Amino acid sequence: MAKLRLHGKIAIITGAASGIGEATARLFVEHGAFVVIGDIQDELGQKVVSSIDSDKIVYKHCDIRDESQVQELILCTIQKYGSLDIMFSNAGIMGSSTRLLEMDMASFDESIAINLRGSALLVKYAGRAMVENNIRGSIICTGSVSATAGANGPFGYTVCKHAILGIVRAAASELGKHGIRVNCVSPSGVATPLSCATYNSPPSEIEMVSATISGLKGIILKTEHVAEAALFLASDESVYINGHNLAVDGGVSSMNTAFLAIWVSFFQ
Ligand code: NAD
Repeated sequence: MAKLRLHGKIAIITGAASGIGEATARLFVEHGAFVVIGDIQDELGQKVVSSIDSDKIVYKHCDIRDESQVQELILCTIQKYGSLDIMFSNAGIMGSSTRLLEMDMASFDESIAINLRGSALLVKYAGRAMVENNIRGSIICTGSVSATAGANGPFGYTVCKHAILGIVRAAASELGKHGIRVNCVSPSGVATPLSCATYNSPPSEIEMVSATISGLKGIILKTEHVAEAALFLASDESVYINGHNLAVDGGVSSMNTAFLAIWVSFFQ
């Protein structure tokens, strides 16, 4: 086996009962980390733990809307393993797919509570634990292509994902003096329960649309690709990278493919 890139590191991954978080939990354990999954889907979270079949992974119920549960998740991790080297704040929801003019404010508030406030809580308490225990840790948040442009997702989701970059940059600037890095991983459309439920489509359709939008052909974005990016940001290989938004989107956020398609078809 190749080098274990997280040998002996202690990691919390939220939202790892499924999707991107689950793929990341598997990869982190493969690379020698001890992983605590924080999620609200208890049965699914326990299933992930038993399927990994390792003493290096445990599940703890944590609703990131609840400040005391976030504190408890971090406290339990430190008590059990004596450290917290990596926080992957990944749990999220897409929320209502309505656009601005039809927006339901209850759904907007829910998106803020989970995607934004929940992430801020995780970064705050992980940062505090790392500072208090003198740990040069790595904090990673899951952003999205909706973090850097409009029209890539529902209104509330786009607002929250833009704010995730604010959390990452503000936290990176405050925690850098303690040797703590804070970065973001930003995928485009990947087939998970979140995307399939939001667009009421099977994984194959999500993948087909995502591949059509992407400028990078011959490859389909999978949760494992996002996990690899999180692994890089968690490991010492990214030791001087701080405040960065790592897009895992085949280049979508750096090219205007819609513009190109219309321009080319117009002048044909
Ligand atoms: P997913 O639904 O498979 O995973 C999300 C997880 O978050 C679930 O296990 C869910 O139980 C958990 N969660 C939801 N609310 C929670 C709460 N209050 N407390 C704790 N856990 C909670 O979806 P995913 O696609 O793997 O999403 C993971 C992250 O990736 C999200 O932040 C999402 O916004 C982001 N993302 C997803 C896509 C995509 O196309 N799937 C693209 C860009 C970014």
